[in-house]
Amino acid sequence: MAGLWDAALRGEAAVRRAALAAVDAALLEGVLMRTEAEPNASDVVSFAPFTLLPSAVPSALFRQAYAVQQDFNLLVDAISQDREFLERALASTVKVDDFTARLFRIHLQVLEEGLAQSVFLGINRSDYMFDCGAPGAPALKQIEINTIAASFGGLASRTAAVHGRVLKELGMAEEASRLLPNNPSEGLASGIAKAWELYGSRSAVVMFLVEEVQRNIFDQRCVENELWNRNIRVIRKRFRDVFEKGSLDEARRLYMDGQEVAVVYYREGYVPTNYNQQNWEARLLLERSRAVKCPDIATQLAGTKKVQQELSRPGTLEKLLPGRTEAIARIRATFAGLYSLDVGEEGDKIAATAIANPDQFVLKPQREGGGNNLYGEELRQVLEKIKDSPERTSYILMDKIQPQPTRNYLLRAHSPLKASECVSELGIFGVYVRQGKELVMNEAAGHLLRTKAVEHADGGVAAGVAVLDTPYLV
Ligand code: ADP
Ligand code: MG
Repeated sequence: MAGLWDAALRGEAAVRRAALAAVDAALLEGVLMRTEAEPNASDVVSFAPFTLLPSAVPSALFRQAYAVQQDFNLLVDAISQDREFLERALASTVKVDDFTARLFRIHLQVLEEGLAQSVFLGINRSDYMFDCGAPGAPALKQIEINTIAASFGGLASRTAAVHGRVLKELGMAEEASRLLPNNPSEGLASGIAKAWELYGSRSAVVMFLVEEVQRNIFDQRCVENELWNRNIRVIRKRFRDVFEKGSLDEARRLYMDGQEVAVVYYREGYVPTNYNQQNWEARLLLERSRAVKCPDIATQLAGTKKVQQELSRPGTLEKLLPGRTEAIARIRATFAGLYSLDVGEEGDKIAATAIANPDQFVLKPQREGGGNNLYGEELRQVLEKIKDSPERTSYILMDKIQPQPTRNYLLRAHSPLKASECVSELGIFGVYVRQGKELVMNEAAGHLLRTKAVEHADGGVAAGVAVLDTPYLV
């Protein structure tokens, strides 16, 4: 297909020059990651992988994605407060998926005790692809919504400047000036700051709960800096620190090393490997506390793939968002086909269809972080094996979205420069704050475009598959 930048890319020398300038611009702007060799040290760091050129995004779909974000914020918030819905939606999953079951048990336990938390902060990212599978214009289809540890808002705030520099290098100053400003760091920090303020203790800190391996620390530091600029103290701790040094007082205020914690911002805790027994205990302590958890465990559960699939059933959105006809229509327009594999006739039928047409579907377990989904022949084999066992209910099926590939260069440290056929995924960050029953903030807070080579069916930036990109609206 004729690409947006074909004319500018004629000539290998020009591409090489642009790539050199691009990498230096990324370092200058702070589009950084720690290295695989030294994931917990900043002595030597590298650039986070990114595309040489911005990718074309249809402006109507871009606007549509922004326009539906506040609706998705409302929806996630509603699900998180609906105990019966979560219980019903996840009933079959918790029987077969131990991780979801453990999260769910903590959810019930804190509800039984009674919530000490009264301020709620949601930071999510709704991800989309542009589906060209049906005739006519491409359609915006949601891949998933991430309700915990949605990352790359920090680095995405700095990527447009890099692509602006590249376009200028290639003689396209006019195009460079059309790149949109984007600042999720600021938006995310506004939500955290609002929650901190409503918590109501000026001496309390914000705690970033971080992983043992912290390659993506600069992405987090972008948000952290915004908080320090507002004179809000930030501490970075791991589950094991919470296990060793965390405590609750009689009012269930959370203390770390004697410091009161107002907000816990999770950048950890979304996959089974994040947990051992001590970490589960630490998680429970945090959830029981009065501190604002971003997200609380109910909101994490609202982001499971099983819940996503249940939302697509007729009538479900109407129950969760009563009276909000327009919001429901906007949300539903972004849904791809989603199918339950629960035991029964409905599941039998769709399993048989997917086995017969594996290239039209994606098989998804209840996992996050990339690299878990199954496609094509592998999907067929796995589904064939589990189709008669309850194990199949730990998966959902989804229609495979078919984006139009375009040519770009993916820049990675120590990788040769070569053109790839690529597809992109657009994420919109959502931020909301609720105090008791009153929503006091509900915003779309910026975007993230990630691009990967078509040969990779799955995986994000942290998984080493996708790279950072900037939308160029067409
Ligand atoms: P994870 O929680 O692991 O990020 P996702 O649902 O986002 O799970 O899937 C991971 C990746 O797989 C996505 O970034 C996308 O590239 C690809 N993918 C997921 N669902 C689909 C789909 N329905 N059609 C095409 N590709 C998909
Ligand atoms: Mg994803």
